[in-house]
Amino acid sequence: MLRIFTLSFLCALSLLGCAAADDGAQLFGPVSPADYLTGRFNPARHESFVSLSDVGVPTGGRRHYLRRAAAVELKKLYDAFHKDHPKAPFWVQSSTRTYDDQKRIWDGKWNGVTKVMGADLSKAIPDRLKRAVEILKYSSMPGTSRHHWGTDVDLNVLNNAYFKSGEGRVLCAWMKANAGRFGFCQPYTAGRTAGYNEEKWHWSYRPLSSVFLARWNALYRENPAAFSRAGLFGGSEMAGSLAPVYVNGIDAGCR
Ligand SMILES: [Zn+2]
Repeated sequence: MLRIFTLSFLCALSLLGCAAADDGAQLFGPVSPADYLTGRFNPARHESFVSLSDVGVPTGGRRHYLRRAAAVELKKLYDAFHKDHPKAPFWVQSSTRTYDDQKRIWDGKWNGVTKVMGADLSKAIPDRLKRAVEILKYSSMPGTSRHHWGTDVDLNVLNNAYFKSGEGRVLCAWMKANAGRFGFCQPYTAGRTAGYNEEKWHWSYRPLSSVFLARWNALYRENPAAFSRAGLFGGSEMAGSLAPVYVNGIDAGCR
């Protein structure tokens, strides 16, 4: 409340830049835009985030956080799905991830600690650029994931095959037909010519994520080296410059 009052007071003093300041305060809260857009904040402590369990969305166990507006709409979506298919499972497997979360995922695959399709990529693909491109089939580089924004979720099982039969197929068909009514879109559809492979499990709350996408692109243009200098994560000096290709290689329905 005090922050809003202070902001309004400052805006009253100087009309210049107030729209941008208001916009930024609502979007990013107390976190700088650069830190927010690259996941360098704690969603559990951010005023615009809520726990999915607290709003009644089923999760896979640990606490999951989303932007309040996205969480509220996801609950409505879940209720509608549950009404249509009372016995079909629906849970959030992954939600907001920080830069450090994403770095752990990326570096695990990079160093061979996490096997990729049974392979230790550090041994199977010595070429650093080729190894990064292999990881990029399904994983984002730290600082470039839509999961940083608090708008995106992964549902049920992170495997396209799950959604091709049985209960997975029921959920997939329902989401494709109905998710848009609640503001959700599927960024990684089949048949795109650039970006990550198809992910039938990944859904995004477009009213907010389309705004964060534009802001992320502006941030990248300002300082590409912040994403591509050596030492940020495994292969950053080779692959960091590819970030805009992957961030923007999404379905038109999510732009
Ligand atoms: Zn995802």
